[in-house]
Amino acid sequence: MRKKIVAGNWKMNKTFQEADDLLFEIADELNDKGRGEVDVIICPPFPYLEMAYDIASDNDFLVGAQNFSQWESGAFTGEISASMLHSMGITHSILGHSERRTYFGETDKVIAKKVDLALQHNVVPIYCCGEVLAEREAGRHFDVVRQQVDEALFHLGKEAIQMVIVAYEPVWAIGTGVTASSEQAQEMHAFIRGLFTQKYGAEVSAEISILYGGSCNAKNAAELFSNPDVDGGLIGGASLKAADFVAIVNSFE
Ligand code: PEP
Repeated sequence: MRKKIVAGNWKMNKTFQEADDLLFEIADELNDKGRGEVDVIICPPFPYLEMAYDIASDNDFLVGAQNFSQWESGAFTGEISASMLHSMGITHSILGHSERRTYFGETDKVIAKKVDLALQHNVVPIYCCGEVLAEREAGRHFDVVRQQVDEALFHLGKEAIQMVIVAYEPVWAIGTGVTASSEQAQEMHAFIRGLFTQKYGAEVSAEISILYGGSCNAKNAAELFSNPDVDGGLIGGASLKAADFVAIVNSFE
């Protein structure tokens, strides 16, 4: 179902104590300032998921993972499975983040397997797609995103696809301080929604939440979120400060 969503991707940051403090600060800020109709999802590193889940249970946010294994279970040392996440009450997971693609060689084929496992285990995938700078400069950004969405998601049926959240994250905007303009974001989000319309029909595509990610902050969120096809944000750096993150949550009109 289409919703307004702000998700925080903490990446590999914070000690246990810092994470505990930040979770309570976010909870307090959300209690003070509210979150309106917005679903807030915090994605801390794996070791902090249980703590985050406990704090979330008494507060107003959900907890997601940043990734999980492409395998169901078994002899895969160091891996964490979708079923483990589900068994801990974790409801969401980021999948296919550009850092996973770049540093860990994740392909859309692998990400497609993870999407399937997520859905089998009732974990909502937050599927990340987006072009690198050279691809945008070469005018290939629409083709790149079309291929990513096609390979990782378009094997799903009409019901399953409506469980998926999409995050458009132009790689050139991630952690760089260079945000996509409001026009660039809306143009790509409308394009992505159009892909869903072609494949699944307008009724289904109208139900898909498409988030923007890439140097989104408390100053530019309101403009980005005012676009008709931008349903919220996936926030990296600015999710590490409670006041900034909650200001982003409260950036919807
Ligand atoms: C991200 O990594 O998902 C992200 C959007 O990072 P940042 O907000 O720091 O650009």
